[in-house]
Amino acid sequence: MAGEPQADCLFCKIVAGEVPATVVREDEHTVAFRDINPQAPTHVLVVPKAHYPNAAALAADPGLSAALLAAAGEVATQEKIDESGYRIVFNTGAGAGQTVFHVHAHVLGGRGLQWPPG
Ligand code: IMP
Repeated sequence: MAGEPQADCLFCKIVAGEVPATVVREDEHTVAFRDINPQAPTHVLVVPKAHYPNAAALAADPGLSAALLAAAGEVATQEKIDESGYRIVFNTGAGAGQTVFHVHAHVLGGRGLQWPPG
């Protein structure tokens, strides 16, 4: 069923507290934690507690999609990168670099960010 936890999903395990993570924000629907391999001075992953494999699948739940974006924005404010500028990235599909198939917003900031990304 859509949104149900998956036994083999790393981010479901982080949501459940079964795998440790540095959590910086949590609410009823989302958890935000520091990326284990940061690509910028601030690199936080924001995930819905419910399991959806990617951003396209998450779009089936507009309320949760909005909650995830709102949480990403609040993380940026909390991390004090909102004024200098930051990037919210959803890698979608292995060809775009997605390696964990539980949708997550990368919130990146604290340095200059180039465009287009690599
Ligand atoms: P993706 O490549 O867009 O799927 O992003 C997955 C991200 O998860 C990568 O940036 C990884 O560094 C990060 N990651 C993998 N395992 C962990 C973990 O256990 N804790 C925090 N971040 C992780």
